[in-house]
Amino acid sequence: MNKELLESAKQARKQAYAPYSRHHVGAAVLTKSGKIYSSGNVENGCYALTICAERGALYHAIANGEFEFEALAVTNGSAELITPCGVCRQVLWELAGEIDVIMFTSRGKKVVMNLSKLYPKPYKKKSKKRLLKHRKK
Ligand SMILES: [Zn+2]
Repeated sequence: MNKELLESAKQARKQAYAPYSRHHVGAAVLTKSGKIYSSGNVENGCYALTICAERGALYHAIANGEFEFEALAVTNGSAELITPCGVCRQVLWELAGEIDVIMFTSRGKKVVMNLSKLYPKPYKKKSKKRLLKHRKK
């Protein structure tokens, strides 16, 4: 499944809209139900409105009724690993919880980190319960 998840992130990178930074990122999330949702980053001339690929993939999944996740993969297609930004780490923590974050390069280097290791001091730890409660409505 990881191979498919990484491939999905790689493919999503091709759909990134990054005319300002020219930093094309792709991300994909794996749900507990086994589905994969992906996104590239989508920039805006008002930079604060840019959506990172990680959040795009997660929101894509949630918009399709998914609320439980296993992993997220992210790449920028270069030889260097990238990690989710601070904003994405907070969003991932609140909406996905304790997932594996898989960062990988074009040369096959791969690092897997648990989100709590990548983001050890999240804001409001119990937010995941709110999301699951919302789902039951
Ligand atoms: Zn981000």
